[in-house]
This record gives sequence, C-alpha cells and structure tokens, in this order.
Amino acid sequence: MPALTEPVRYLHGVGPQMANRLARLGILTIRDLLYHLPSGYRDRREVTPIARLQTGVEATIAASVASLETRRRGGRRSDLVASLRDESGFLRAVWFNAAFVGERLREGNRYLFSGTVQRFRGPEFHNPDFEPEDGGERLHVARLVPRYPLTEGVSERWVRARVHDALEGLPAVEDLVPESRRAALGVPSLDRALRDIHFPARPSDAEPARRRLALEELLRLQISLQYARRRHRDRLVAPSLSAGADAMRAFVRSLPFRLTGDQLGALQAIAVDLDATTPMRRLLLGDVGSGKTVVAIAAAIRAAAAGHQAAFLAPTSILAEQHAATAERLLGASGVTHALLTAATTERERARILEGVASGEIAILLGTHALLERDLAFRALALVIVDEQHRFGVRQRVSLAERGHEGQGAHLLVLTATPIPRSLALTLYGDLDLSPLREKPPGRSPVRTEVRGGVAREVLPAILREELDRGGSAFVVYPIVEASEKSDLKAATEMAQSLSTRPDLADAGVMLVHGRMKVGERREAIARFRSGEARVLVATTVVEVGLDIPDATLIVIEHPERFGLAQLHQLRGRVGRSDRPGRCVLLVSAGLGEMARQRLDVFRRVTDGFELAEADLRLRGPGEILGTSQHGFPELKAANPLQDNDLVEAAREIGAALLAEGEEADGGANLGKWIETHFAGAERFLGSG
Ligand code: ADP
Ligand code: MG
Repeated sequence: MPALTEPVRYLHGVGPQMANRLARLGILTIRDLLYHLPSGYRDRREVTPIARLQTGVEATIAASVASLETRRRGGRRSDLVASLRDESGFLRAVWFNAAFVGERLREGNRYLFSGTVQRFRGPEFHNPDFEPEDGGERLHVARLVPRYPLTEGVSERWVRARVHDALEGLPAVEDLVPESRRAALGVPSLDRALRDIHFPARPSDAEPARRRLALEELLRLQISLQYARRRHRDRLVAPSLSAGADAMRAFVRSLPFRLTGDQLGALQAIAVDLDATTPMRRLLLGDVGSGKTVVAIAAAIRAAAAGHQAAFLAPTSILAEQHAATAERLLGASGVTHALLTAATTERERARILEGVASGEIAILLGTHALLERDLAFRALALVIVDEQHRFGVRQRVSLAERGHEGQGAHLLVLTATPIPRSLALTLYGDLDLSPLREKPPGRSPVRTEVRGGVAREVLPAILREELDRGGSAFVVYPIVEASEKSDLKAATEMAQSLSTRPDLADAGVMLVHGRMKVGERREAIARFRSGEARVLVATTVVEVGLDIPDATLIVIEHPERFGLAQLHQLRGRVGRSDRPGRCVLLVSAGLGEMARQRLDVFRRVTDGFELAEADLRLRGPGEILGTSQHGFPELKAANPLQDNDLVEAAREIGAALLAEGEEADGGANLGKWIETHFAGAERFLGSG
C-alpha cells in the first residue's frame, strides 16, 4: 500500500486521465483524497418495502431481479431495464445508456438497491446504486454513504470506491495527539477519524471525526510556524535594548495624549521582549485608529537610544511617507535621526541614506518592504517593524524574521490593522506573540454609515456640497481591480474631472490620487488635502491602507460590493478620527445581488472591527476574507478557525509540546528530520505567500 504522501495515481483504479481530473479538485496525493471531505451523507440505512416507496424520496430496497433486458436506443446506446421484486411488490429499474451494468446483475439473485423513486409509467428507479445483499461489507447502499464535491468526469460512486480502497489498504495511522487530549476534546484517534468521516456508522460520528481532522490541520500549521519560530530564536541572538528604557519612557511622557491601557500593556510586553537577547516576535493586532504607529515608534526609540537601529516597513510608499511624517512630528524633540527610503527616493539621496545606515548615523529607517530586499548594510539593526504584514503572506514573514545580519537576529514587531478574531490570528500568526489593542483612543467620534442608491454622477455632487457646507472634507473612493484596471481607473479619473469642473463645487479644490500617478504628484495632492486647501480627494484604494487625515469627515465609496468587509472597514476608518463626527456613504448601483446587499447591511450596522471580521468570516469563509492566494492564507479543508476555537488553542499547545518532545529526543539536532517524518509536507500549509 502506497504511503499517504504518494501520488493518487498509485491507487488501484486511478489512471492518468482520472488523476488529471482529480487534480482539478486539488487532489494530488492519497492524503489529499482522504482529506477530500464529504459534503454530506445519504442516509440509506433503512430498507423500505417496494409497496411503501414514495415518489421523489430516496430509499433502499432489498429485492431480487425478476427479469433483465437490454433495450437499444438510437445509435450505439442501449439501456438496461430490470424488474425488481420483493415480498410486497414489483418495481422497474432503468440504467440509461449503461447496458454494461447488467454484467454485475443476475436474474434470480438478491441485491440492495438505492435510488430516488421517479414516477414514469409507474414508479421507477433511475440509475440506482446496488450491491449484493449478502456480499460482505457494503459501500454504496444500505448504510450512510458519503457525498463529495465533484468535477466533470468524476462521479460520486467512483470517488467513494477510491476512498474506500485507500482506507482499506491504509495501515493504522499513527496519532501524535495524546489519548487524554483527544478525550478532553471529544475526538477520536486520527485513524478512526479518517475512516469515520467517510463512512460513519451513525450520523453522530461524523462531526467528531471532522474535528479530529481539523485538529490535525491546525496542528500541522502550528508545528510549521512554531518550528520556524524556534529556528529563528535558537539560531539568532538579538541585542538587549534595555539601555533605551529611559528614552522610551521620556518619549511616552512627551506625547500630546495619554496612551490607552491597551497601548501601555502592549508597550510593556514589547519592552520585556526587547530587553532579552532572544529575538522578539510579536504581533500588534489593532483595529483602525487604535494607535499602533505610536507604539511602534516608541519601540524604535528604545532601539535607537540603546545605540542600535530600527527598520520600519510599510506596504505602500504613501503609507511609508505617512509614517515618516508621524515620526518627524513625534521624534522632533528627541534628537533621534530617521530617514525615508522608497522607490521615489533620488539616487543622490539614496546614496546618502545608505551611508548613514552603514555608519549608524541614521537610527530609524522607514520605507516600503523593498528596503529589506536591497542590500542595505545596517551598522546595528536590532528591530524590524512590519506594518500590514498579512499582505506579505505567512512564508514571507517567516523568511523576513530569519534575515539576520551576520548571525545577529533582529527583534520583529508586526502591525496589522485587519481586525481578525483571536482564533484566526492564532492560526495565521501562530509563530507570533499577540498584543491586542481593543481600546480606542478617547475623543473618537462614531461614523454613521448609509447605503445610497443612484447614479454617482447625479447624487455625488449634492452629497459633497452638503458636507462642504458643514465645513467638512471628503474622500471619494473607487475600487480598482486587476481584471478591469483600465476602465476602473478611467471611472475615477472621469469623476475627478467632472467634479472639478462643476461651478457649484468650485471651492472644493477636487484632487485625484491613484497608484499609477507619479509619486511627486501624488504626494502633492495628499499634502493639499491634508492642509485643507483641497477638500475633496478622489482616490483609488491607495487610501485604504491607512491615510491618517484627522480632518476628513466623509468617505463616499463607489462599488462597495467589490470590497471585502475588512477592507471597507479600513476605508471607513479614514474618517471620524477627530472630534468631528464621521460619515460613510456606500453608493450602490441597481442590480446588486442578495448576498452583496446582506453583506453591506451587516457593514452598515456593525461598527466594531472585530465583530465585523467575525461576520465576514461567517459570510465568506476564511480564505475569502484575506484572499487566499494574495495573502498566503494556509489551506484548511476540515478546520474553520472561527467555529473551532477550542481546537485552535489546543493545536497551539499540542504543537509546542510535540516540538519540545522532539527536541528532547535528540537534543534538537535532528528536530527538522523529526518533523519531516511526522509531519511530512507540513510546510505546504505555509501557503504560497
Ligand atoms: P493605527 O495605526 O492603529 O490605525 P495610528 O497609530 O495611526 O492608528 O493612530 C491614529 C491617530 O490617533 C494618530 O493621529 C495618533 O497620533 C492618534 N493617537 C494614537 N494614540 C492615541 C491616544 N492614546 N490618544 C489620542 N490619540 C492617539
Ligand atoms: Mg496606522
């Protein structure tokens, strides 16, 4: 019997053609086949007398074949027609274009037949499944039979038989989860689970089996993440930054506001991490506007004051520029040096920065993540801060954290503004310690959300006029999706054009920003909006990732249905950042689907980012919420991090215990091999990143 990791074509009955079809379902290995979970079950346990069959209802009968005949239809097709008999009566069965089925039936013998009763010239079974009544173990009839997600040329019956074969030949699967743990979680052994999920004896066996498989997936993910974390921590030593403690405290005191309790808590945890020589790996998980940047800068100051350097990576140059401006503002008095490096930096300026980074003269370097790819030689890099990390994918994070400088590791601080439930955060960021910022800084105003119909060109000017008269200023946001990038961009550009030429909006100073603009022009437009000179900013999604313009009061979003709820929430977070109330208008066009309407309505009602994330997760599933391919979200088939909260926590603990055990076994020398043996392929869960 081939091993679980072998290609599925090693199974009896799977030829090259079927292997190709299975590949369409994402099934490459035997393990993939066994993890191709049933979408449900047909309950064929009860045997019904023919006389009591009901039209349209699926049923199983135990009957003998009274007669068999092949009937030719047009061309080379022929059907098989049988008359079936039990103690209560007769039933006709027809197998269309499938005369070969007759080879498996014999007049006079008894079989179990399962099918749905059709009313034709009388009650009939069409293409029923059947097996001999006394033929030993049953697969397709007279039991709970699994249904599967299918693709063209792959039938349910065929998959069922292949799964059955694979299980039949499978040697007992080893289970690394201790018995006591399994009992506490109410799940069977891995071996039992693999069998029960496909062929449960009772309906109530299926869910515990699914949970055990979910635990296995989560465990593999945790093992791979935690192993990466261990390698990072064991191989590398990071400098202790305790010498920067006073400077950090002074910085916090110098702020024009008081940090929230959550901010202080996070900063305390960070300080403890930074003072140790084991590299920090921490995630600052906070909703839009929860004040992550300030915390990050305080950490950077601790590094700088301890005589080391910090790199602050942002996902876009606009955001990097904004962080640089924040740093400028907050660092002013402290004397800590910083610089900004993006694609727009001139050659001359870059040369100066490279020199300053190499000499240590520049203590904090901000920029896009390109700055780590460049061959930048820091004199003493001690802290890497990454904003909006999920955009880089799990695998990239792992390699980022491993990028030490000459054996010296850097502490890693990840900021994410995607409000994700704790269970999902643990799944995605199992290798990081969590510091949540749930509390909002005081003085924030709630944002009122409205859904408005109508043609943008007609309704938008009035909405904007009203806001301007109130003394506010507004973002108008257009989604740009790759598939229709040109026309999307055109829509934004045309709207900006049309708004800026309207006499009734002459005082608005309408500006446009989009990703295809020259950086200088883009910066100019944002600066004018920030200063209040321009009061309407038409933008593509570039503003989504965190423009901080406290005076903006209105955000109008075109085609909101094209955004995920998490993204919409980010957008909405652009307003209501001062004591002036914010307003968010979703402009929807006619013909929106029911599902889309429902999502937007949830968004309108729910203002808490975490609550919204949970709702989104429920509506769309975890892959969708983060966009599987883009964000390297690990592929989970059995597990649903939202639903399986307890399993996520358990997997984290069990994974840590297993790793410790593997390390103990041989002093850690062969831990990698140990993981390879027990969790072969675990790294697949890291996604493509
Ligand atoms: P995030 O990055 O989490 O979205 P920011 O760090 O950009 O949030 O903070 C948003 C705004 O709130 C900034 O203008 C920042 O200066 C301000 N801010 C941060 N913390 C506080 C606080 N504790 N009290 C008042 N304002 C704060
Ligand atoms: Mg921010």
